[in-house]
Amino acid sequence: MSQSATNPLISNAKLRRELADLNEATEMARQMRQAHAKEGCACVASPELVAAIVCVDVATLRRARERREANLKEGVPLDPHHVSSMRPSNQPEGSRSVAYPCSEVLDFLDRRCAEIKKSVNARNLPAKAIAAATRGFSSFLTQGDALSTWPFALQPDGRPVDLAEALEIGIADGPIERLTVAQFGSKLAAAASQAFHEGEREALGETLDIDKPDETGEPRDRWEESGGPL
Ligand SMILES: [Zn+2]
Repeated sequence: MSQSATNPLISNAKLRRELADLNEATEMARQMRQAHAKEGCACVASPELVAAIVCVDVATLRRARERREANLKEGVPLDPHHVSSMRPSNQPEGSRSVAYPCSEVLDFLDRRCAEIKKSVNARNLPAKAIAAATRGFSSFLTQGDALSTWPFALQPDGRPVDLAEALEIGIADGPIERLTVAQFGSKLAAAASQAFHEGEREALGETLDIDKPDETGEPRDRWEESGGPL
């Protein structure tokens, strides 16, 4: 079996992009569903979080709300595959704060997945190849190229956590950043190293508490012995 038959990601940039988009949208929807599966979950998310989940920047999401308003006013049908199709929750008159119901975000992700799937399926890829490219975060790690990015929820200790997982376990309250595999690796290494050194200092402190300084007056090593090396 040739390399391109098992990994179609190598040969075609547009397809690679589509599969990466499908992977991310599928994973976000899957994990959000775990946390918001309850019928009628009424929670809302900030535009910053929604932008990260649906993979656009905050300014694009703001323009999409303006477009939505204009379209509704003019009676132009909304494009179900554009982020303007998400309906922000009703805010009190005059309020400038914006939020999106989780159900709107989930429905949008489902529509987006279905749309990309249609395009990917038209290429008659082996099911195995699609499965390999759409295993969520692990597909990003194993198949992402130098420019591919994935959204991460940064934790107080600096650790980047896969946003999909962070959504599911409820630790996506801090800053969110899109990182390449290399950036993810170095941020994680820096946080882990910091934690290691803090742990080391703690352990050292405990050791010093237990082992009182030696008061026998014995020389500590041969360099301090009388008649030691000159
Ligand atoms: Zn919810």
